[in-house]
Amino acid sequence: TEACLTAIDGADALGAFVHKTPEIALEQAGAADARIKAGDAPDMCGIPMGIKDLFCTNGVASQAASRILEGFKPEYESTVTSQLFDAGAVMLGKLNMDEFAMGSSNETSCYGNAVNPWRRGNDDTLLTPGGSSGGSASAVAADLCLAATGTDTGGSIRQPAAFTGIVGIKPTYGRCSRWGVVAFASSLDQAGPMAKTVRDAAIVLRTMAGHDPKDSTSADLAVPDFEAMLTGDIRGKKIGIPAEYRMEGTPAEIEKLWADGANMLRDAGAEIVDISLPHAKYALPAYYVIAPAEASSNLARYDGVRYGHRAKLAQGDGITEMYEKTRAEGFGHEVQRRVMVGTYVLSAGFYDAYYNRARKVRTLIKKDFEDAFAAGIDAILTPATPSAAFGLGEMTEADPVQMYLNDVFTVTVNLAGLPGISVPAGIDKQGLPLGLQLIGRPWEEGDLLNTAYALE
Ligand code: GLN
Repeated sequence: TEACLTAIDGADALGAFVHKTPEIALEQAGAADARIKAGDAPDMCGIPMGIKDLFCTNGVASQAASRILEGFKPEYESTVTSQLFDAGAVMLGKLNMDEFAMGSSNETSCYGNAVNPWRRGNDDTLLTPGGSSGGSASAVAADLCLAATGTDTGGSIRQPAAFTGIVGIKPTYGRCSRWGVVAFASSLDQAGPMAKTVRDAAIVLRTMAGHDPKDSTSADLAVPDFEAMLTGDIRGKKIGIPAEYRMEGTPAEIEKLWADGANMLRDAGAEIVDISLPHAKYALPAYYVIAPAEASSNLARYDGVRYGHRAKLAQGDGITEMYEKTRAEGFGHEVQRRVMVGTYVLSAGFYDAYYNRARKVRTLIKKDFEDAFAAGIDAILTPATPSAAFGLGEMTEADPVQMYLNDVFTVTVNLAGLPGISVPAGIDKQGLPLGLQLIGRPWEEGDLLNTAYALE
């Protein structure tokens, strides 16, 4: 813990930590030490972690990287973080992210962007660590902590993991409690670990997961010992390669990474099977209707009354002006764009044309996966991202749709509620890490982690 705290103080330029909590860390580390000495050392005992700012942490600023939550210190702990702390984990601080987890580059944060510790060859252009869990990815990749929590609504664990050469798993929807995690799109949001290795991810997930009566969508299922399932034996497993993920414009390097990954799994005894997910091509547009729709509803609670920031009002301003001014000052541009898109697609005249249609597409996407699994496929292999990490500002200057296109390989998994993992799988010609994604059957994270382990 002390080594991590020192490393964090020397790495302010990365912008990974937005609130440091050294006093809490040292106190928790001391308590962990005592437990170890007493011979009672649970899984996470003394393991220094960073916590994404989207998780509510008792008495510690939890702002979802938004100005609108300025000054908000929850009086409760999210279920996921309380399970981690009960198991002895140490909190080093809160990690940077895109505002309300909306983004793929950590550039929508009210704290400014986090930076990727990797560089392209000798070029010193600063690169994005990806997003929205950009601070988590940057902190783990730069050895500022041993693991971090992330959340994934459309790729926010897997894409930053791929951009920084680490492992990130989005569990099955319902595996980890959403209680105390600031809501973005409730039917898609899932918490998960970001760590250096598949084994570390398995250990952290085992503690984060579990049924929680405080979240009605949390599954009442036993949590398997994911670590014990890491045998590396994948003989006889059927790995699907979906034709629809071969997209025009995908760089040759990514195609090669994907083919090499498939060969590696074949060499380990798996059978590689070509499959079709016919509706996958509609995932991105469906996601960018459903996610903003749910966000516009979830973010209605930030009204200047119940939490955080309230705008200064002028003489004669009423409640409407209070809402308008507070939300105009408190929300950044991307969040405002999502709220506007969301209210539009939910409005009476457009509900059927957009929101209902997207929901139908979502059902078809889910069915594609069910059909593949029913045909005996155990896991599906795809690239995690269409490119390596891009430069800060490179995408924000293009139109917002360019940024959304970065999520093309990841959003499908959230729409279908499936577990997905990103594993470091190679280095591009500029020296940047690239990741592959494996998608698993619902509730079979153990099997998925084991396949990823064979690829690692
Ligand atoms: N990049 C996607 C978005 O902006 C996904 C974000 C996430 O998973 N939280 O919505």
